[in-house]
Amino acid sequence: NKTVYTFGGGAVHQDPRAKDKTVTGGKGANLAEMAGIGLPVPPGFTITTEECLAYNAGGQTLQPGLAEEIRSGIAHIEQATGCRFGVPRSGVPLLVSVRSGARVSMPGMMDTVLNLGLDERAVESLAQSSGDDRFAWDSYRRFIQMYADVVMGIDHGLFEEALEIAKEDQGVLLDTELGVTDLKALTQRYKAIVREESGREFPDDPWDQLHGAIAAVFDSWESDRAKVYRRLNDIPGDWGTAVNVQAMVFGNMGETSATGVAFTRDPSTGERAYYGEWLVNAQGEDVVAGIRTPQYLTKTARERAGASAPSMEEAMPEAYAELARVFDLLERHYRDMQDIEFTVQQGKLWMLQTRSGKRTAKAALKMAVDMVDEGLIDEKTAILRVDPMALDQLLHPTLDPNAPRDVMTRGLPASPGAASGKAVLDADTAEAWRARGEKVILVRVETSPEDIHGMHAAQGVLTARGGMTSHAAVVARGMGRPCVSGASAVSIDLANRKLRIGSRELVEGDTLTIDGATGEVMAGEVSTIEPELAGDFGTLMEWADRHRRMKVRTNAETPTDCRMARQFGAEGIGLCRTEHMFFDADRISAVRQMILADDEAGRRRALAKLLPEQRADFTAIFRSMAGLPCTIRLLDPPLHEFLPQEEHDFAELAEASGIGIDHLKRRAEELHEFNPMLGHRGCRLGITFPEIYEMQARAIFEAACEVAEASGEAVVPEVMIPLVATKKELAILKALVDATAAEVFAEKGRTLDYTVGTMIELPRAALMAGEIAEEAKFFSFGTNDLTQTTLGVSRDDAGRFLEVYVAKGIYPRDPFVSLDIDGVGELVRLAAERGRATRADLKLGICGEHGGDPASIAFCEAVGLDYVSASPYRVPIARLAAAQAAL
Ligand code: ADP
Ligand code: MG
Ligand code: MG
Repeated sequence: NKTVYTFGGGAVHQDPRAKDKTVTGGKGANLAEMAGIGLPVPPGFTITTEECLAYNAGGQTLQPGLAEEIRSGIAHIEQATGCRFGVPRSGVPLLVSVRSGARVSMPGMMDTVLNLGLDERAVESLAQSSGDDRFAWDSYRRFIQMYADVVMGIDHGLFEEALEIAKEDQGVLLDTELGVTDLKALTQRYKAIVREESGREFPDDPWDQLHGAIAAVFDSWESDRAKVYRRLNDIPGDWGTAVNVQAMVFGNMGETSATGVAFTRDPSTGERAYYGEWLVNAQGEDVVAGIRTPQYLTKTARERAGASAPSMEEAMPEAYAELARVFDLLERHYRDMQDIEFTVQQGKLWMLQTRSGKRTAKAALKMAVDMVDEGLIDEKTAILRVDPMALDQLLHPTLDPNAPRDVMTRGLPASPGAASGKAVLDADTAEAWRARGEKVILVRVETSPEDIHGMHAAQGVLTARGGMTSHAAVVARGMGRPCVSGASAVSIDLANRKLRIGSRELVEGDTLTIDGATGEVMAGEVSTIEPELAGDFGTLMEWADRHRRMKVRTNAETPTDCRMARQFGAEGIGLCRTEHMFFDADRISAVRQMILADDEAGRRRALAKLLPEQRADFTAIFRSMAGLPCTIRLLDPPLHEFLPQEEHDFAELAEASGIGIDHLKRRAEELHEFNPMLGHRGCRLGITFPEIYEMQARAIFEAACEVAEASGEAVVPEVMIPLVATKKELAILKALVDATAAEVFAEKGRTLDYTVGTMIELPRAALMAGEIAEEAKFFSFGTNDLTQTTLGVSRDDAGRFLEVYVAKGIYPRDPFVSLDIDGVGELVRLAAERGRATRADLKLGICGEHGGDPASIAFCEAVGLDYVSASPYRVPIARLAAAQAAL
């Protein structure tokens, strides 16, 4: 296999490796590609990524034979340009750039070295041949500065300081105002710095310079910076980086020369307008370095910004026209928006880089839809172009990018969207203030199930503690509330109703703004922009729906969430949790009376109070989901969670029930559990207190009959029994549900279709799925609990160690966010198979957090589930991800 591939200057390779990113890296492959379609690319050569791996494996030495390949690569450039490398006083010296280029662009890698090949004599030849002394010496001083910094590792600040001093001495402001003598003196000063700092001479021999720079690129693959970047971005260490050596073209040859960067479409809006920046008489990174203010590319952009410095379109119309022609060619060739780097040398345009451009979610959407209209790509490609997770940004109100913001601190971006409101410090206050029409942000150290009503009432949630899968984060995402969690600079003084954020003192009622997409917490109100759900978004969703096989349902339990989910395209409810209804302020007392009752009669008395409330809940839900299937899970959480905690809870309860406080406390004591998540919960409640499930089933069927009667539309309840481990449990509870249904139907004089099924959330249930399917019409994989029970990891406590596990690669991602496909996934696969073997038409779905995670959704498609269920705001994400998985 070849170790060096030439490009430009008429180079031709039959070998497909020349344009293979895995061999020649992203930059090299695209340079070869551009040269191949006839675009003006300075000639050069690429050393393969394989050489990088060999170099590092061989103890940081260039492989034997590589020097020879490099020489013939340079010969190719010499021939194409007519310049000579490393041969002093022989016409125009060949200068090259040395550029790193991994498979994907990597900020951790070595910076580019420009103008390599100059020494004291070559700089004179360059001055003579170009007829421009200043340009030659400016190139030389740039080269020493870059090489010393990038290759020799000398602090670049020292050179910048020397440059500043030179400018001060001459009383000028800009680099371009320094004359030849100043530049000559500066190069001497630079070399002295190199000597002082490294104890070595700056290398004069161009071949030494070249080998040094190539080795530095290879070294940079193993630098700490690159390693960190690789770890954060899941880039394997065995890819290696290629090195590109390319003839220099000069954007610093006076007023007819320039350098710039551009996108073929606007990367933030997706608008079909060239977008970019350029600088006259400049080189390399000057545009992004912020030394001079770059100018706009197009006249329209300049005018829109009210800038006075001429655009490239106006100042260099010919080069600009050529550039525009290249943009169109590139887009047609790559069929995607390109991010390019170019240089104009004395009026002639040269292309130095192209790649698919990064873009905002909004731009990705617009470009995908536009490009289908333009015939550049087809619908399927458009579907695959948009990252489903990025849609999240589009579904929530976002901060107006032009509005000023006063950032006080930053936490974790736990649930996207932006919200402003008055800070309130507990859930009851949130509810009370909301009821009088205020907008509030609930600020808590962390949240618990008792805060749900406050989270509902709030515009957004801010917590001082807790990770991305903390209670606050999970519940907020489910409700579509913006949330910033784990903002450790927030401390709360509940007694004095005060809070401190960073160095600021606030009191309850002060306004703040949170941005759940960035984690920023800001003082005061920052204006927001509403999402646009029609237009391009609607179009892409329509395409996605055409191409997906799986249905998408939602996890919802309030009419508001149901309506929201339907707007987002939900095709039913995959999980309606009934416990949230039990925590509501007006019910909790009845629920507690029920739990703390001494006997069945006592429980039935309390349940009788709850029945009409539950029936009303279900009526509202069935109404808002008319015609669609609704999976309703009977009571699931440990009784423990409903127990009164505070003295006043007990007092209220005693008053309402007429039972003595001491007696209540004793009952509560008896019900205390050491490990509630594995305790008295799920179907165990139904087995021990059948009257609870009986009441819930009655409420479901009464509501279903009522809505069917009133609307004439089919209501399809799917009653789901949680935490089943054995067939017997399900058999007992199914019989209870069936008996209750029969009773209600007899009373109402009508029947309707319903099914009974179970959640698969215990390993035993997955293993015994074949048997359990004899009783179940459907399985819904409750992958939150299934992950907890399979991994033996408590989700609520995982924050303390899971991060370390992920950092060490023990789990590739947080298994509560993205399904552990190898382990938990295996149980899902097995249960699906065994269940279907028993009952061919067993309906299969997933309702954990994973139902909204694209990687997990792809897995669900692969094992043939019938639907995924996600929180309302994740429904569009799931629709797109399901389509991508099916393609
Ligand atoms: P990065 O990967 O960080 O973008 P590049 O290798 O693209 O680094 O180099 C950065 C800049 O250096 C380019 O955008 C271009 O302006 C300049 N550059 C690189 N090679 C050349 C060259 N052969 N001639 C002129 N300028 C060059
Ligand atoms: Mg670049
Ligand atoms: Mg569960």
